Amino acid sequence: MDKMRLLTPGPTPMPEEVRLTLAMDMVHHRKPGFTALLGEIQKDLRWLFGTSQPVVAMSSSGTGAMTAAATNLFAKGDQVIVIEGGKFGERWGEIASTYGLDAAIVSVPWGKAITVDHLRAALEKFPKAKGILVQASETSTGVLHPIKELAAFTRERDVLLVVDGISAVGISPCPMDEWGVDCLLTGSQKGLMLPPGLSFLALSERAWKRVEEVKPREFYFNLLGEREKIVKNSQTLFTPPINLLMGLHTCLAMFKEQGLENVYRRQWALTQLVRSAARAMGLELFAEEHFTWGLTSIRLPEGVDGSAVLQCCAERYGVVLAGGQGAMKGRIVRFGHMGHVDYGDVLAGLHALASALEACGGYTAARDYMEQGMRAYEAAMAGGYPE
Ligand SMILES: *Cc1c(COP(=O)(O)O)cnc(C)c1O
Repeated sequence: MDKMRLLTPGPTPMPEEVRLTLAMDMVHHRKPGFTALLGEIQKDLRWLFGTSQPVVAMSSSGTGAMTAAATNLFAKGDQVIVIEGGKFGERWGEIASTYGLDAAIVSVPWGKAITVDHLRAALEKFPKAKGILVQASETSTGVLHPIKELAAFTRERDVLLVVDGISAVGISPCPMDEWGVDCLLTGSQKGLMLPPGLSFLALSERAWKRVEEVKPREFYFNLLGEREKIVKNSQTLFTPPINLLMGLHTCLAMFKEQGLENVYRRQWALTQLVRSAARAMGLELFAEEHFTWGLTSIRLPEGVDGSAVLQCCAERYGVVLAGGQGAMKGRIVRFGHMGHVDYGDVLAGLHALASALEACGGYTAARDYMEQGMRAYEAAMAGGYPE
């Protein structure tokens, strides 16, 4: 049997060090050994998020942190601008409506990123908006929104920039304090190389002030309560997923050992590898200009059955790729390369994709795609990555 290679944009494969940590026996979450561990995790999370403010860890998938942001930062009836350029942008809109926020939807064509001009026009149209809800990386399309530029604009105005960084944190840079992001959140099963079940959220100083003003309406996702616990005694409000946090400690130690720069460089280089190879295969990329570093969205040639391609990759080669979501179902392949994935996994994935396309679509890929891809990878590893 072939080794299974999970090349999806979450969940992602786990390093052996993390898996071994996860297998450890239970400890008590209010005793000194574990609170000391939480103290270290807190320090490392602030480093990863690039913030001096507390980073709250919650037991939920990433959507729980999105919900916590919406309900703690905004009161019922508050207007928020939702940047909707894919499935996860739509989720922001659904969460906002569910909790009685007035969601002003700003649509961006799928495959494209929001621009500062577009955002400025939206704020002129909705001047009362108290927040902007956006993704750093829109995982359904493979687009990277220009958070640094958006933050440079919003930090000068009385509007909070709330960023779903679920497929960006630990994958591409998003230093919160330096850029002026007001809320950055993520989940455990993407760049952090852990099982699903933990989510993280950090706020700027002015965002914390807003939380203090908004009437609490969550018992479980209570950010003020969590902050108090972190600051006072390095604990969480409720029983946390203890083993996942131990795994997180290991993951953060691995990040520290490599240095964030090298983590980002590798992610960027893998992106270059997949993009160059896909182009050399004669395939079109879905996100052309502003693309995510943790996955590559690739258009399927006309007439090719997307689900048959994915099935062939999994059954013949043990390579698990993701398809399109929503309107893009069956039309794109989402090739994940985030977290604990290396060039060898990616080459296996590319071979599986090229072979499956030939088997399912009568499509013949160029033969030198691996060479072209590896050349782009080596060049990126030797160089830097863009800001
Ligand atoms: C994966 C993902 C989510 C959903 O997270 P869950 O952990 O499934 O709740 C939300 N936003 C983005 C950008 C994602 O990549």
